[in-house]
Amino acid sequence: MLAESSLPIAMPRAARITISLPALRHNLRRVRGLAPASRAWAVVKADAYGHGLEALLPALDEADGLALVEFDRAQWLRERGWRKPILMLEGAFEPADVELAARIGLSLAVHESRQIDWLSALPPHPRLDVHLKLNSGMNRLGFAASDYQGAWRRLRALQSVAGITLMTHFANADLAGGATQAIAAFDQAAQGLERPHSLANSAAIIDWPAAHRDWVRPGIMLYGASPFGSRSAASLGLAPVMQFESRLIGRQQLSAGDAVGYGSAFIADRPMSIGIVACGYADGYPRHAPTGTPIAVCGVRTRTVGRVSMDMLAVDLEPVPQAVIGSPVELWGDQVPVDEVAASAGTIGYELTCAIAPRVLRQVTSDGAR
Ligand SMILES: *Cc1c(COP(=O)(O)O)cnc(C)c1O
Repeated sequence: MLAESSLPIAMPRAARITISLPALRHNLRRVRGLAPASRAWAVVKADAYGHGLEALLPALDEADGLALVEFDRAQWLRERGWRKPILMLEGAFEPADVELAARIGLSLAVHESRQIDWLSALPPHPRLDVHLKLNSGMNRLGFAASDYQGAWRRLRALQSVAGITLMTHFANADLAGGATQAIAAFDQAAQGLERPHSLANSAAIIDWPAAHRDWVRPGIMLYGASPFGSRSAASLGLAPVMQFESRLIGRQQLSAGDAVGYGSAFIADRPMSIGIVACGYADGYPRHAPTGTPIAVCGVRTRTVGRVSMDMLAVDLEPVPQAVIGSPVELWGDQVPVDEVAASAGTIGYELTCAIAPRVLRQVTSDGAR
C-alpha cells in the first residue's frame, strides 16, 4: 500500500462554475438605477439560486437586506456576521421558527393566521418586524383581500410585533400588462394602512415603476439572467454571474448515417466532426436540451448534438475546426446566455442555475477577468 504522503493528488473534473463578484455588484447597481428610491432585499434563497451564498456574500454588502426561505441558512448568515435585515419570504413553518426569528432578529413574512397565533405566543421582547402578505391573484401564499385588514389589526395589537410591511408577490409581472391588476388589488386591500410596501420582483423592478415602493425584492436579475422569456439579460443591462465551463475529452469523425449517443437521437447527414464534453445531466446540464442547443467551444458558438448523458454531451465542431481534446467549452455564461440554453430545454434560467450539482467545482473571481 502506498504511504498517504506519496499518493498523487486527484485532479478535479473539468466541469466547473466560476462566480463573478463584479458581475453581481454590477447587477445590484442596475437595481439601484432602476429603483433609486427603494431599498433592496437581495433574494438569496436556494443557495443564491444555485450560485453559492457563501461565495457571494462579499459582493452583497451593498444590499439593504437578504431574503430567503431557509431558516438554517438565515441562522448561518447571522453566525457569519451578517448584521443587516434578513427576511424570511415564506415566514415561519412552525412555532420554533418564530422563536428563532425573535432570538436572532429575522423579519418574517406572515401569510396565514396560524403564523399570527405563533407570534402572539411570543414574549413582548425582543420585537420583530413582519411582512404581511396579500394574495393579489397568484393564489399561492397570502391573505385574501377580505381578510387582509383584519390580519393587520391582529398583528398591530401584538406587543411582539414591531414594524408591519405590506407585501405581495406578482404572478405575471413578466407579461405585458401583467402587474396592473395585482397592483390595483394591493392598493385596494392596503388602503388606510401605513407603509412601508414591498411588491416588486425582478420583472416588476424592470417594467413596473409603480410597484417599486419602499422595498424591492430582486432575485434573478442579481444573477444576470432575464426574468422575461423574450428579452435577453444583456439587453436589460445585466451581466451573468455564473460561468459554467468544461473541456473536450473526446473527438469523433462521423460519416453520413453515423449516430451519436443514447437512442441514436442524432444521425449525421454528412461527414462531420463532433467533440465530447465532460459535462452531463449529473452536473446540472439539462437532459432535455435537444440537438441544436447553443454552446461555445474555444470561444466559438456551436450546437449540441444528440442526447445529453450523465457525464457527457456531444457538440458539433464544424464551426470550430481548431478544437482538440482539452479545448475549453462554455455551457453557459458570457458567450451563451443561460436563458438561451433554458429556452432550448423548455425551462427558465432559474431552474438551470439552481440545478448545478455538488460535484461541479466552484470558483470565485473578484476581478473583471474570469
Ligand atoms: C423568489 C422571490 C422573489 C425574487 O423573484 P425574481 O423573479 O427572482 O426576481 C421576490 N419575492 C418573493 C416573495 C420571492 O419568493
